[in-house]
Amino acid sequence: MRIIIFGPPGAGKGTQANLISEEYDIPHLSTGEIFRSAIKNETSLGKEVKAILDAGDLVPDEKVVGLVEEELKDDKYSDGYILDGFPRTVPQAEAYDAILDKKGKTLDAFLQLVVPEEELIDRILSRGEGRSDDSPEKIKNRLAVYREETAPVLNHYKKQDAVETIDGVGSIEEIFEIIKETLNSK
Ligand code: AMP
Repeated sequence: MRIIIFGPPGAGKGTQANLISEEYDIPHLSTGEIFRSAIKNETSLGKEVKAILDAGDLVPDEKVVGLVEEELKDDKYSDGYILDGFPRTVPQAEAYDAILDKKGKTLDAFLQLVVPEEELIDRILSRGEGRSDDSPEKIKNRLAVYREETAPVLNHYKKQDAVETIDGVGSIEEIFEIIKETLNSK
């Protein structure tokens, strides 16, 4: 199964993607995790993107698309995967469509986690992951970037009739149950 999990920062994408990955035995591909690990290991990619992540801005599309395209060549993704944090702009979504097309594959589900904006800031501040982009100022920027650059991705997938809207307010378990029902009915 090929799944995208989508939503604003703090919506719980990473948490739910981990649970989906375990339940359906598919790898979890998080672009944010790839960048954070590159920064931690001080690789050339890490040095390139550190200031961008720290500011809560977006890594340029060509860089992210190239990285995802390379990563997806790994055999471990051949039976499916869950994408978390990608695509994050309309050009990324178009590039991902082309990647799927080239392989003759299709997307099985686009899960949109819906959480009111007031709740997002509280959640991010209280999750205490110690991320350098989790300060109130950086969160405000990440939410603005989400509204301007990422929210339009939803329309791209609505046009493909692929969007499954999931109420992202509730306990982790409750939300995961709804996701499972949605995926199992496909
Ligand atoms: P995340 O863990 O998904 O919240 O991503 C953390 C940060 O990594 C974002 O604020 C961006 O700076 C960067 N990032 C992750 N995924 C992407 C993407 N698809 N396009 C551009 N930047 C990204």
